[in-house]
Amino acid sequence: MLIDGHGREVNYLRISVTERCNFRCLYCMPQKPFSWNPKENLLSFEELFEFVKVAIDEGINKIRITGGEPLVREDLDKFIKLISSYKSDIDLALTTNGYLLSDVAKKLKDAGLKRINISLDSLKPAVAASIAQKNVLSKILEGIEIARELGFKIKINMVPLWGINDSEILDILEFGRERDIEVRFIEYMENIHADSKIKGLSGKEILSAIKQRYKIKRVGRVKNSPSFSYEIIENGYRFGLIDPHKHDFCEDCNRIRLTAEGYLIPCLYFDEAQSIAKAVKEKDIKKAALILKDVLANKPKENRWSEESSESSNRAFYETGG
Ligand code: SAM
Ligand code: SF4
Repeated sequence: MLIDGHGREVNYLRISVTERCNFRCLYCMPQKPFSWNPKENLLSFEELFEFVKVAIDEGINKIRITGGEPLVREDLDKFIKLISSYKSDIDLALTTNGYLLSDVAKKLKDAGLKRINISLDSLKPAVAASIAQKNVLSKILEGIEIARELGFKIKINMVPLWGINDSEILDILEFGRERDIEVRFIEYMENIHADSKIKGLSGKEILSAIKQRYKIKRVGRVKNSPSFSYEIIENGYRFGLIDPHKHDFCEDCNRIRLTAEGYLIPCLYFDEAQSIAKAVKEKDIKKAALILKDVLANKPKENRWSEESSESSNRAFYETGG
Protein backbone atom coordinates (compact mmCIF):
# COMPACT_ATOMS: atom_id res chain seq x y z
CA MET A 1 0.00 0.00 0.00
CA LEU A 2 1.26 3.50 -0.85
CA ILE A 3 0.73 6.17 1.80
CA ASP A 4 1.72 9.79 1.27
CA GLY A 5 3.22 12.25 3.75
CA HIS A 6 -0.26 13.21 4.98
CA GLY A 7 -1.46 9.67 5.62
CA ARG A 8 -3.56 9.38 2.43
CA GLU A 9 -3.59 6.10 0.54
CA VAL A 10 -2.52 6.63 -3.07
CA ASN A 11 -3.78 3.98 -5.49
CA TYR A 12 -4.43 5.94 -8.69
CA LEU A 13 -1.87 6.70 -11.41
CA ARG A 14 -2.65 8.96 -14.37
CA ILE A 15 -0.27 8.58 -17.28
CA SER A 16 -0.02 11.24 -19.97
CA VAL A 17 1.38 9.26 -22.90
CA THR A 18 1.91 12.28 -25.14
CA GLU A 19 1.60 16.06 -24.95
CA ARG A 20 0.68 16.18 -28.66
CA CYS A 21 -2.87 16.60 -29.81
CA ASN A 22 -4.97 16.67 -32.97
CA PHE A 23 -7.25 19.43 -31.53
CA ARG A 24 -6.39 23.00 -30.60
CA CYS A 25 -8.97 23.60 -27.86
CA LEU A 26 -9.20 27.24 -26.83
CA TYR A 27 -8.99 26.38 -23.14
CA CYS A 28 -6.01 24.03 -23.44
CA MET A 29 -3.76 24.31 -26.50
CA PRO A 30 -5.10 27.05 -28.80
CA GLN A 31 -1.86 27.12 -30.76
CA LYS A 32 0.74 24.51 -31.46
CA PRO A 33 3.28 25.01 -28.66
CA PHE A 34 6.42 26.95 -29.61
CA SER A 35 8.36 23.72 -29.17
CA TRP A 36 7.33 20.21 -28.29
CA ASN A 37 9.46 18.21 -25.93
CA PRO A 38 12.00 16.45 -28.20
CA LYS A 39 10.83 13.01 -29.32
CA GLU A 40 13.97 11.37 -27.94
CA ASN A 41 12.89 12.42 -24.43
CA LEU A 42 9.64 10.49 -24.73
CA LEU A 43 9.63 7.22 -22.82
CA SER A 44 8.73 4.18 -24.88
CA PHE A 45 5.74 2.10 -23.81
CA GLU A 46 8.16 -0.57 -22.61
CA GLU A 47 9.89 2.02 -20.40
CA LEU A 48 6.61 3.40 -19.09
CA PHE A 49 5.53 -0.16 -18.38
CA GLU A 50 8.67 -0.74 -16.27
CA PHE A 51 7.37 1.98 -13.96
CA VAL A 52 3.78 0.78 -14.13
CA LYS A 53 4.87 -2.64 -12.83
CA VAL A 54 6.64 -1.01 -9.88
CA ALA A 55 3.62 1.17 -9.17
CA ILE A 56 1.20 -1.79 -9.31
CA ASP A 57 3.45 -3.90 -7.08
CA GLU A 58 3.45 -1.04 -4.56
CA GLY A 59 -0.33 -0.66 -4.50
CA ILE A 60 -1.62 1.22 -7.57
CA ASN A 61 -4.86 -0.43 -8.72
CA LYS A 62 -6.35 2.26 -10.95
CA ILE A 63 -4.66 3.69 -14.05
CA ARG A 64 -5.95 6.34 -16.45
CA ILE A 65 -4.26 6.97 -19.79
CA THR A 66 -4.49 10.57 -20.90
CA GLY A 67 -2.54 13.26 -22.79
CA GLY A 68 -2.46 15.52 -24.95
CA GLU A 69 -4.55 13.20 -27.03
CA PRO A 70 -3.57 9.64 -26.10
CA LEU A 71 -5.00 8.16 -29.29
CA VAL A 72 -2.50 10.04 -31.48
CA ARG A 73 0.21 7.82 -30.01
CA GLU A 74 0.55 4.68 -32.09
CA ASP A 75 0.11 1.23 -30.57
CA LEU A 76 -1.67 2.46 -27.45
CA ASP A 77 -3.59 -0.83 -27.42
CA LYS A 78 -0.29 -2.69 -26.96
CA PHE A 79 0.53 -0.58 -23.88
CA ILE A 80 -2.94 -1.26 -22.50
CA LYS A 81 -2.49 -4.96 -23.15
CA LEU A 82 0.83 -4.95 -21.25
CA ILE A 83 -0.87 -3.39 -18.22
CA SER A 84 -4.00 -5.55 -18.25
CA SER A 85 -1.94 -8.72 -18.70
CA TYR A 86 0.16 -7.78 -15.67
CA LYS A 87 -2.89 -7.18 -13.46
CA SER A 88 -6.14 -8.33 -14.99
CA ASP A 89 -8.41 -6.73 -12.38
CA ILE A 90 -6.85 -3.28 -12.69
CA ASP A 91 -9.28 -0.40 -13.18
CA LEU A 92 -7.98 0.76 -16.56
CA ALA A 93 -9.43 3.91 -18.10
CA LEU A 94 -8.78 6.41 -20.89
CA THR A 95 -9.54 10.11 -21.35
CA THR A 96 -9.84 11.12 -25.01
CA ASN A 97 -11.24 13.83 -27.24
CA GLY A 98 -12.95 10.96 -29.11
CA TYR A 99 -11.86 11.96 -32.62
CA LEU A 100 -9.95 8.76 -33.39
CA LEU A 101 -11.97 6.54 -31.10
CA SER A 102 -14.21 4.82 -33.63
CA ASP A 103 -11.14 3.49 -35.47
CA VAL A 104 -9.51 1.92 -32.42
CA ALA A 105 -12.25 1.29 -29.84
CA LYS A 106 -12.47 -2.44 -30.59
CA LYS A 107 -8.69 -2.90 -30.32
CA LEU A 108 -8.70 -1.02 -27.00
CA LYS A 109 -11.53 -3.17 -25.68
CA ASP A 110 -9.75 -6.37 -26.68
CA ALA A 111 -6.57 -5.08 -25.01
CA GLY A 112 -8.38 -4.76 -21.66
CA LEU A 113 -9.52 -1.12 -21.47
CA LYS A 114 -12.64 -0.80 -19.31
CA ARG A 115 -13.72 2.82 -19.09
CA ILE A 116 -13.54 5.91 -21.31
CA ASN A 117 -14.09 9.59 -20.54
CA ILE A 118 -14.83 11.55 -23.69
CA SER A 119 -14.71 15.34 -24.01
CA LEU A 120 -17.81 16.78 -25.66
CA ASP A 121 -18.11 20.56 -25.44
CA SER A 122 -20.92 21.15 -27.92
CA LEU A 123 -23.55 19.39 -29.99
CA LYS A 124 -23.44 22.09 -32.66
CA PRO A 125 -20.88 21.40 -35.40
CA ALA A 126 -19.84 25.05 -35.76
CA VAL A 127 -19.45 25.57 -32.00
CA ALA A 128 -17.48 22.34 -31.55
CA ALA A 129 -15.30 23.47 -34.45
CA SER A 130 -14.77 26.89 -32.91
CA ILE A 131 -13.56 25.34 -29.63
CA ALA A 132 -11.33 22.60 -31.08
CA GLN A 133 -10.43 24.75 -34.12
CA LYS A 134 -11.25 21.79 -36.34
CA ASN A 135 -14.37 20.15 -37.70
CA VAL A 136 -14.69 17.47 -35.04
CA LEU A 137 -18.26 16.83 -33.93
CA SER A 138 -19.33 13.96 -36.21
CA LYS A 139 -16.20 11.95 -35.40
CA ILE A 140 -16.65 12.49 -31.64
CA LEU A 141 -20.29 11.38 -31.79
CA GLU A 142 -19.33 8.34 -33.86
CA GLY A 143 -16.68 7.48 -31.25
CA ILE A 144 -19.21 7.76 -28.42
CA GLU A 145 -21.71 5.49 -30.20
CA ILE A 146 -19.14 2.80 -30.99
CA ALA A 147 -17.76 2.88 -27.45
CA ARG A 148 -21.32 2.40 -26.15
CA GLU A 149 -21.98 -0.48 -28.52
CA LEU A 150 -18.80 -2.16 -27.32
CA GLY A 151 -19.99 -1.91 -23.73
CA PHE A 152 -17.42 0.54 -22.35
CA LYS A 153 -18.40 2.47 -19.24
CA ILE A 154 -18.44 6.07 -20.50
CA LYS A 155 -18.46 9.55 -19.00
CA ILE A 156 -18.68 12.82 -20.90
CA ASN A 157 -16.63 15.89 -19.93
CA MET A 158 -17.77 19.40 -20.83
CA VAL A 159 -15.98 22.70 -20.09
CA PRO A 160 -18.65 25.48 -20.31
CA LEU A 161 -17.36 28.81 -21.65
CA TRP A 162 -19.23 32.12 -21.69
CA GLY A 163 -20.43 33.21 -25.12
CA ILE A 164 -19.28 29.95 -26.75
CA ASN A 165 -21.09 26.89 -25.40
CA ASP A 166 -22.75 28.23 -22.23
CA SER A 167 -26.18 27.86 -23.82
CA GLU A 168 -25.63 24.12 -24.36
CA ILE A 169 -25.31 22.94 -20.76
CA LEU A 170 -28.84 21.52 -20.75
CA ASP A 171 -28.41 20.00 -24.23
CA ILE A 172 -25.28 18.12 -23.17
CA LEU A 173 -27.02 17.06 -19.95
CA GLU A 174 -29.96 15.65 -21.97
CA PHE A 175 -27.57 13.96 -24.37
CA GLY A 176 -26.04 12.11 -21.41
CA ARG A 177 -29.36 11.41 -19.69
CA GLU A 178 -30.94 9.92 -22.82
CA ARG A 179 -27.99 7.54 -23.17
CA ASP A 180 -27.51 6.88 -19.46
CA ILE A 181 -24.01 8.38 -19.60
CA GLU A 182 -22.80 10.53 -16.71
CA VAL A 183 -21.93 14.06 -17.80
CA ARG A 184 -19.32 15.91 -15.79
CA PHE A 185 -19.17 19.68 -16.07
CA ILE A 186 -15.65 21.00 -15.47
CA GLU A 187 -14.96 24.58 -14.47
CA TYR A 188 -12.50 26.18 -16.85
CA MET A 189 -9.10 26.51 -15.16
CA GLU A 190 -7.23 29.63 -16.18
CA ASN A 191 -3.74 28.86 -17.46
CA ILE A 192 -1.17 30.75 -19.50
CA HIS A 193 -1.45 28.36 -22.44
CA ALA A 194 -5.17 28.98 -22.99
CA ASP A 195 -6.71 31.64 -25.21
CA SER A 196 -6.65 34.80 -23.11
CA LYS A 197 -10.12 35.92 -24.25
CA ILE A 198 -12.10 32.99 -22.90
CA LYS A 199 -13.99 32.98 -19.64
CA GLY A 200 -15.39 29.88 -18.03
CA LEU A 201 -18.61 29.47 -16.06
CA SER A 202 -18.25 28.92 -12.33
CA GLY A 203 -19.74 25.82 -10.74
CA LYS A 204 -22.55 27.98 -9.37
CA GLU A 205 -23.32 29.37 -12.83
CA ILE A 206 -23.33 25.87 -14.34
CA LEU A 207 -25.79 24.66 -11.67
CA SER A 208 -28.04 27.66 -12.14
CA ALA A 209 -28.29 26.89 -15.89
CA ILE A 210 -29.46 23.37 -14.99
CA LYS A 211 -31.90 24.70 -12.38
CA GLN A 212 -33.69 26.62 -15.14
CA ARG A 213 -35.23 23.27 -16.13
CA TYR A 214 -34.79 20.92 -13.20
CA LYS A 215 -34.92 20.71 -9.44
CA ILE A 216 -31.66 19.11 -8.39
CA LYS A 217 -30.13 17.89 -5.15
CA ARG A 218 -26.49 17.56 -4.20
CA VAL A 219 -25.73 13.93 -3.53
CA GLY A 220 -22.17 14.34 -2.31
CA ARG A 221 -18.69 13.80 -3.48
CA VAL A 222 -17.58 10.47 -4.89
CA LYS A 223 -14.80 9.29 -2.55
CA ASN A 224 -11.30 10.17 -3.80
CA SER A 225 -12.76 12.15 -6.69
CA PRO A 226 -12.81 15.89 -7.44
CA SER A 227 -16.31 15.42 -8.86
CA PHE A 228 -19.40 16.35 -6.84
CA SER A 229 -22.45 14.35 -7.73
CA TYR A 230 -25.90 15.93 -8.28
CA GLU A 231 -29.24 14.27 -8.97
CA ILE A 232 -32.19 15.52 -11.01
CA ILE A 233 -35.07 14.92 -8.62
CA GLU A 234 -37.78 14.11 -11.19
CA ASN A 235 -35.87 11.39 -13.03
CA GLY A 236 -32.97 10.33 -10.79
CA TYR A 237 -30.30 11.11 -13.41
CA ARG A 238 -26.93 11.91 -11.85
CA PHE A 239 -24.30 14.26 -13.21
CA GLY A 240 -21.02 15.56 -11.86
CA LEU A 241 -19.46 18.97 -11.26
CA ILE A 242 -15.72 19.44 -11.01
CA ASP A 243 -14.77 22.68 -9.35
CA PRO A 244 -11.00 22.72 -9.17
CA HIS A 245 -10.88 26.31 -7.89
CA LYS A 246 -11.78 24.90 -4.51
CA HIS A 247 -9.63 22.30 -2.90
CA ASP A 248 -12.16 20.60 -0.69
CA PHE A 249 -11.41 17.32 -2.45
CA CYS A 250 -7.71 17.30 -1.56
CA GLU A 251 -8.25 15.70 1.83
CA ASP A 252 -8.61 12.21 0.34
CA CYS A 253 -6.67 12.74 -2.90
CA ASN A 254 -5.44 9.34 -4.05
CA ARG A 255 -3.65 10.21 -7.29
CA ILE A 256 -0.28 10.90 -8.83
CA ARG A 257 0.62 11.75 -12.40
CA LEU A 258 3.31 10.56 -14.79
CA THR A 259 4.23 12.51 -17.92
CA ALA A 260 5.35 11.04 -21.24
CA GLU A 261 8.92 12.12 -20.43
CA GLY A 262 8.86 10.29 -17.10
CA TYR A 263 8.18 13.11 -14.63
CA LEU A 264 6.26 11.97 -11.60
CA ILE A 265 4.02 14.80 -10.42
CA PRO A 266 2.40 14.59 -6.98
CA CYS A 267 -0.28 17.22 -7.65
CA LEU A 268 -1.64 19.02 -10.71
CA TYR A 269 -1.04 22.47 -9.23
CA PHE A 270 2.42 21.89 -7.83
CA ASP A 271 5.58 22.62 -9.76
CA GLU A 272 7.89 20.06 -8.19
CA ALA A 273 8.33 16.76 -10.02
CA GLN A 274 10.93 13.99 -10.11
CA SER A 275 12.03 11.98 -13.11
CA ILE A 276 11.89 8.20 -13.21
CA ALA A 277 13.32 8.17 -16.78
CA LYS A 278 16.87 7.11 -15.89
CA ALA A 279 15.68 4.46 -13.45
CA VAL A 280 13.37 2.80 -15.97
CA LYS A 281 15.85 3.01 -18.83
CA GLU A 282 18.35 1.18 -16.61
CA LYS A 283 15.61 -1.15 -15.37
CA ASP A 284 16.56 -0.08 -11.83
CA ILE A 285 13.35 -1.16 -10.12
CA LYS A 286 14.55 -0.29 -6.63
CA LYS A 287 15.44 3.24 -7.67
CA ALA A 288 12.07 3.71 -9.39
CA ALA A 289 10.28 2.54 -6.22
CA LEU A 290 12.37 4.91 -4.10
CA ILE A 291 11.53 7.87 -6.33
CA LEU A 292 7.85 6.96 -6.18
CA LYS A 293 7.91 6.89 -2.39
CA ASP A 294 9.88 10.13 -2.20
CA VAL A 295 7.38 11.90 -4.47
CA LEU A 296 4.55 10.64 -2.28
CA ALA A 297 6.29 11.75 0.91
CA ASN A 298 6.32 15.25 -0.58
CA LYS A 299 2.81 15.28 -2.00
CA PRO A 300 1.26 18.58 -0.87
CA LYS A 301 -1.69 18.60 1.50
CA GLU A 302 -3.76 20.77 -0.82
CA ASN A 303 -3.38 22.02 -4.35
CA ARG A 304 -1.62 25.35 -4.46
CA TRP A 305 -4.13 27.08 -6.64
CA SER A 306 -5.19 29.65 -4.08
CA GLU A 307 -1.62 30.33 -2.98
CA GLU A 308 -0.66 31.62 -6.37
CA SER A 309 -0.73 35.35 -6.63
CA SER A 310 -1.70 35.30 -10.30
CA GLU A 311 -4.86 33.56 -11.39
CA SER A 312 -3.03 31.44 -13.91
CA SER A 313 -1.12 28.20 -13.75
CA ASN A 314 2.02 27.69 -15.82
CA ARG A 315 1.53 24.00 -16.18
CA ALA A 316 -0.10 22.93 -19.44
CA PHE A 317 -3.09 20.61 -19.17
CA TYR A 318 -1.92 18.86 -22.33
CA GLU A 319 1.36 17.95 -20.61
CA THR A 320 -0.08 16.55 -17.39
CA GLY A 321 -3.31 15.16 -18.80
CA GLY A 322 -5.65 17.34 -16.75
N1 SAM B 1 -7.24 15.09 -25.08
C1 SAM B 1 -8.04 14.42 -24.14
C2 SAM B 1 -9.35 15.13 -23.90
O1 SAM B 1 -9.47 16.28 -24.32
O2 SAM B 1 -10.23 14.55 -23.30
C3 SAM B 1 -7.35 14.15 -22.83
C4 SAM B 1 -6.51 15.24 -22.26
S1 SAM B 1 -7.37 16.69 -21.73
C5 SAM B 1 -6.05 17.67 -21.11
C6 SAM B 1 -8.20 16.08 -20.27
C7 SAM B 1 -9.36 16.91 -19.80
O3 SAM B 1 -8.88 18.16 -19.38
C8 SAM B 1 -10.43 17.17 -20.84
O4 SAM B 1 -11.68 16.75 -20.36
C9 SAM B 1 -10.40 18.67 -21.03
O5 SAM B 1 -11.69 19.18 -21.28
C10 SAM B 1 -9.85 19.12 -19.70
N2 SAM B 1 -9.21 20.44 -19.76
C11 SAM B 1 -8.22 20.83 -20.60
N3 SAM B 1 -7.89 22.12 -20.35
C12 SAM B 1 -8.69 22.53 -19.34
C13 SAM B 1 -8.84 23.77 -18.64
N4 SAM B 1 -8.10 24.83 -18.92
N5 SAM B 1 -9.76 23.83 -17.65
C14 SAM B 1 -10.52 22.76 -17.34
N6 SAM B 1 -10.44 21.57 -17.97
C15 SAM B 1 -9.53 21.46 -18.96
FE1 SF4 C 1 -6.18 18.32 -27.00
FE2 SF4 C 1 -7.60 17.43 -24.95
FE3 SF4 C 1 -6.22 19.72 -24.78
FE4 SF4 C 1 -8.34 19.65 -26.35
S1 SF4 C 1 -8.32 19.37 -24.11
S2 SF4 C 1 -6.33 20.51 -26.90
S3 SF4 C 1 -8.30 17.60 -27.07
S4 SF4 C 1 -5.37 17.72 -24.99
